[in-house]
Amino acid sequence: MSYFLTEEQELMRGIAREFAKCEIAPVAKQLDVTGEFPWDWIKKCAELNFLGVSIPEEYGGAGADCLSECVIIEEIAKESGSLALIIDAHTSLGCMPLLFEGTEEQKQKYLVPAAKGEKLMSFGLTEPGAGSDAGGTKTTAVLDGDEWVINGSKCWITNIGAADTYIITAKTDPEKGNRGISAFIIEKGTPGFEVGKFEKKMGLNNSATGELFFRNCRIPKENLIGKLNKGFPLFLKGLDEGRIAISAMAVGMAQGALDRAVAYAKERVQFGRPISQFQAIAFYLAEMAMQIEVARTMLYRVAKMRDEGLPYTKEAAMLKLFSSEMCCWVCDKAVQIHGGNGYSREFDVERFMRDAKLLTIGEGTSEVCKLVISGHVLA
Ligand SMILES: Cc1cc2nc3c(=O)[nH]c(=O)nc-3n(C[C@H](O)[C@H](O)[C@H](O)COP(=O)(O)OP(=O)(O)OC[C@H]3O[C@@H](n4cnc5c(N)ncnc54)[C@H](O)[C@@H]3O)c2cc1C
Repeated sequence: MSYFLTEEQELMRGIAREFAKCEIAPVAKQLDVTGEFPWDWIKKCAELNFLGVSIPEEYGGAGADCLSECVIIEEIAKESGSLALIIDAHTSLGCMPLLFEGTEEQKQKYLVPAAKGEKLMSFGLTEPGAGSDAGGTKTTAVLDGDEWVINGSKCWITNIGAADTYIITAKTDPEKGNRGISAFIIEKGTPGFEVGKFEKKMGLNNSATGELFFRNCRIPKENLIGKLNKGFPLFLKGLDEGRIAISAMAVGMAQGALDRAVAYAKERVQFGRPISQFQAIAFYLAEMAMQIEVARTMLYRVAKMRDEGLPYTKEAAMLKLFSSEMCCWVCDKAVQIHGGNGYSREFDVERFMRDAKLLTIGEGTSEVCKLVISGHVLA
């Protein structure tokens, strides 16, 4: 048993590792080329209860804690960043606003099937003019009788097309900036709601990302989540959750890259000996291992803070900043250790390096994380 993890969490890690090794690893490279959405993996995740790990059992989830979820995402990310991101967008970003602020009726209707893995969730905050500055949201929601009328668009949204339920933000009081934003539930197939262009991305090819359009899209009045004009703090709370999950993805991907670099360094012979025997390479490996260990320790600590109900906004931003930059650095070094082969699609580290870059951008860029941290430090 590890210092941080209970026997049950170690057991979950074992199940996730087995799934990743047996079901993801054999086809991950091929699926990266085709770019298809990994429905078989999603179905298996649903069977294993990985799509609602930290959702209470009464709402269809496994009733485990955030740390358990981190351990599972970490194992999955060792083989596929795409699947880890799909789960993160579904659970941390999509389900959590409903768990935090949803009415009992909303929870039964949307959260239960999501936690059971019967339906996928998506979270739409980003817009063409509102990325880091989420307060710049232009999508509007106007109450007309018993319905909200939504107009506007979202971009860079994960799980588009595949998701059945979309949690989005819209301005309900355009004069009030951040204090005039509310959160809504939109069901796939609602008239006036359309999925737009799918992005051709640098990496994470098996996660679907792109645009959403709302043109006089009418949804029931009851689809408002939480209080009117309180969507912004709700999404910030969701982003704190998301930053833990995306850091678990960073730790897992970095570990996956290190494992492959170690194996390659022991195998590859130059100047009559394995390259692992050159100090330059061995020291890269040492530093990669150290950086991952620091990030993992932070990850488990912040997850525990969250599980114990302590405030963790600053720590989540620190964790996300450190682990995402660390993962990019580790993947870059893993490619370097592979030499020319590292630049080839035949070797997984090439995919890992492409996939890793999202980590410093999504769910608060590195610069935005520094804004959050410095805000706390200077307070
Ligand atoms: C693969 C992928 C998946 C995504 N999935 C989702 C999703 O599911 N849902 C969703 O809502 N969004 C999603 N996003 C969007 C993502 O959250 C945004 O891309 C991110 O928040 C940055 O916004 P932006 O792209 O508009 O960049 P901008 O905000 O335009 O930033 C551009 C640059 O300026 C810097 N910058 C901006 N403001 C400041 C400042 N005040 N101080 C210092 N530097 C600053 C940024 O750090 C960045 O380096 C996804 C993005 C990607 C790439």
